Amino acid sequence: MLAERITLMGLSKTIWTNPTEFLRNQQPENPVLFFAPQVLQATARRFLSGFPGLVTYAVKSNPSEEVVENLMAAGVRGFDCASSVEIDMIRRLDPDAAIHYHNPVRSRAEIAHAVARGVTSWSVDSGSELAKLIEMVPTVSKSGAGCEISVRFKLPVAGAAYDFGAKFGATSAVASDLLARVAAAGFTSSLTFHPGTQCTDASPWVAYIREAAVIAARAGVRIARLNVGGGFPSARHKGQVIDLEAIFAAIDTTTTEAFGADRPALVCEPGRGLCGEAFALAARVKAIRDDAHVFLNDGIYGSMLEFSQIGLIDRLTVLDHEAQPRRGATVARICFGPTCDSVDRLPGEIALPADLAEGDFMIFHGMGAYTTVTNSRFNGFGDLGLCTVLALKL
Ligand SMILES: *Cc1c(COP(=O)(O)O)cnc(C)c1O
Repeated sequence: MLAERITLMGLSKTIWTNPTEFLRNQQPENPVLFFAPQVLQATARRFLSGFPGLVTYAVKSNPSEEVVENLMAAGVRGFDCASSVEIDMIRRLDPDAAIHYHNPVRSRAEIAHAVARGVTSWSVDSGSELAKLIEMVPTVSKSGAGCEISVRFKLPVAGAAYDFGAKFGATSAVASDLLARVAAAGFTSSLTFHPGTQCTDASPWVAYIREAAVIAARAGVRIARLNVGGGFPSARHKGQVIDLEAIFAAIDTTTTEAFGADRPALVCEPGRGLCGEAFALAARVKAIRDDAHVFLNDGIYGSMLEFSQIGLIDRLTVLDHEAQPRRGATVARICFGPTCDSVDRLPGEIALPADLAEGDFMIFHGMGAYTTVTNSRFNGFGDLGLCTVLALKL
């Protein structure tokens, strides 16, 4: 049933049992991302049943239509979009989906485009951009729904793999001022934050939710919704277990404690946490130069850009060219990507089987987020295959 549905989606006509079967048969020259729709749908159901509020998908983390279609099939009805292109894609795939336009800086042309597409949720983190929204966005949409503006705030909290506050978010005091202006202008008034990507425990959310209650009280505004952002983690290290349910429970309890009778409805907008686990990457060993440096057919300018920013995913298995696992003793090696740029190097040294050979495959698990979208064509590389599989287990 599911297999049939995926075939109809058209992107991958053949569905392989697992990556091993594909690699053995196809011997791909280019890197390949393997997508397991079942894994994606299972993660989506975990969010939908566990998160105490509305689940929206941050489209930027993996905007492939196959991903969006499978999330919709699993029951995701809300999407966090950052651009006109993302908004148009979601509208085309589900005309009734809730679209949250949560890029707090937009040109006037982008605002007009989103109003025409019926977007009714917006975020803002500055007075100048709020003035543009008040001028151009009707407080009640054509469908009769009230328009919502969520004020995005930031805190100096640790816990994420990197900090989003450097670019977006008003300070707490400014957020109160903006929230009061949103309410006075007649919009549905909400708050939003992003605790930073890949937060491995609930502590950043606890701090942010408490501050949201302070901001609302200072503004004298009862907020309709609190959007607790993305930041939900995906396993990057061998043996790492992600306890999403513990994070959901902490968000739920803290919201009740902080807001009491004024508890707002909750929204989340996971990117990585939803799509990360559903993909694995096969990169191939092009050469081992004088038995030292390993050169791969994918790298920092391909689907591994994030390795240079938040570190290596070390959930790694090496297969020989017949796709049999190599299990021998390991040695630490330096690995480079295929381009001629010296930053195209995987961080640190990687423990790889001592008998690693040209033509071997390196399989990285948990590669669904920020991989297809950062893949560039630098130096003529970047021809990344996409293959649908029933399971990612090798
Ligand atoms: C990128 C982004 C997300 C998703 O972040 P993840 O860390 O991938 O979950 C959610 N909301 C906004 C506003 C974003 O910019």
